[in-house]
Amino acid sequence: MLTGKESYIIVGAGVFGVSTAYYLIQKYPNASVTLVDRDAYDADSRVAASWDWNKVVRADYEDIVYCELALEAQDIFKSDPLWKPFFHETGLIWTCRDDYARGVIDNYKRLGRKADIKAVSIEEAKKLYGGLLKDADYTGVKEVLINPTGGWGAAGDSLRAITRKVLELGVKYEVAEVATLLLNKNGYCSGIKTTKGKVLQATHTIIAAGAFTPTLLEYSAVNSGLPNVAAGFRLVAGGITTGMTKLDDESHARFSSMPVAFQGYRPDQGPFLGSLPPTPDEREMKWWGQTIFKNTREVLPGHFISSPPPKPDYAQWEVSKRLKEDITHANKMFYGKDTAHWKMEKHRICWDAFTSTTDFIISPHSAAKGLYLATGGSFHGYKFFPVIGKYVVQMLEGKLSPELTEKWAWDRYRPDPSLNGEYPRAEMKDLIDPVRTSKL
Ligand SMILES: Cc1cc2nc3c(=O)[nH]c(=O)nc-3n(C[C@H](O)[C@H](O)[C@H](O)COP(=O)(O)OP(=O)(O)OC[C@H]3O[C@@H](n4cnc5c(N)ncnc54)[C@H](O)[C@@H]3O)c2cc1C
Repeated sequence: MLTGKESYIIVGAGVFGVSTAYYLIQKYPNASVTLVDRDAYDADSRVAASWDWNKVVRADYEDIVYCELALEAQDIFKSDPLWKPFFHETGLIWTCRDDYARGVIDNYKRLGRKADIKAVSIEEAKKLYGGLLKDADYTGVKEVLINPTGGWGAAGDSLRAITRKVLELGVKYEVAEVATLLLNKNGYCSGIKTTKGKVLQATHTIIAAGAFTPTLLEYSAVNSGLPNVAAGFRLVAGGITTGMTKLDDESHARFSSMPVAFQGYRPDQGPFLGSLPPTPDEREMKWWGQTIFKNTREVLPGHFISSPPPKPDYAQWEVSKRLKEDITHANKMFYGKDTAHWKMEKHRICWDAFTSTTDFIISPHSAAKGLYLATGGSFHGYKFFPVIGKYVVQMLEGKLSPELTEKWAWDRYRPDPSLNGEYPRAEMKDLIDPVRTSKL
């Protein structure tokens, strides 16, 4: 039971951390809540996966738990004045190479949702939106899902605005890199220590550090001599390339009212691809690539795990030619030859924490008292920004439903990730550009 006078350190001010702060401070206004992040919330560049031009906001899930959760989040995106400015309801179109569309439509029915969601034939899909997707790759496509109620969120803008809101509500924000957790021999966690040696103490420490979570836990396990604090196989840092192009007037006229588009593949074929509509001001269209990779490196002597590159900005703007080709490929899979001449102007590698099933981890840590996890976005966490903190607070209160407690547990059954198309398989070292060496 919480008394309302507890103190909380939340490591990481992405959507998991900020949403947690938002719900915590409203429910417990007398609690001390501090967000700690290596980047200022209004910095021009941040490493957070949540800090992005835009992210898809959809409820099209085969897993009814995420379908329901995403609908709950979308209801807030559509109605709450705090979130509404950031949601763009463009609708979405999704090529399905298996029974995905049926699963999603069934979920909407089971949840009593009346959205005009349907599956159409390839021929019908080609005629939609002025024929924008007539030259898409339809190889092996069974049917095409259309959902007019999905769209995208202005991710970075919403993150900045909601963080500003939590600061107004009394949450503190510390710009610092966390070096380690403070853990005593009995496994009690009393807070964190920053790389500059500053100690911050709290009754509850919540790790919401996204892709860096496994590295921070590895450091903390070694520093404390408690090996079970490490994440092991539970969480893996994975990177994906995104790319953008700025549309000229003619292209903008054609693409400005397009939906979010997906190329869906069966899990054994690989990850799904996405194409986001142009942003209203900058007229920039975005894609993400097909290669999801680890960066296995020695984070401490003898400790090899996947971790973002060891630079303050995770080297997120250093994108190799091979990874840029992923974006060219994605463009082709949606629009064929028609847009092949477009020049991709911006590329970024975005890092997230992956679990083998893409289920989050919202759980007490079983090897440390006072330590909690809110992470595992697995490439789909942004859309839950308006609600995820509510569930983190329920977890802290011990009131999370048994179903979600099991689904999001730190210790749970983890099936082989081979059936998860989005799981990071490649290694970053195999994707960098070859360096020409001088011949002796
Ligand atoms: C390319 C890409 C596309 C995506 N597209 C979508 C989409 O369309 N729709 C969707 O719903 N989801 C999408 N996602 C997933 C979504 O972005 C993530 O799941 C979500 O943003 C993760 O949020 P987070 O709070 O866990 O982590 P993050 O947003 O990464 O935040 C973690 C924070 O922790 C901080 N931090 C880390 N280590 C430390 C430390 N040691 N000390 C201090 N601070 C630290 C970081 O600075 C960062 O601010 C996508 C992800 C990627 C990578």
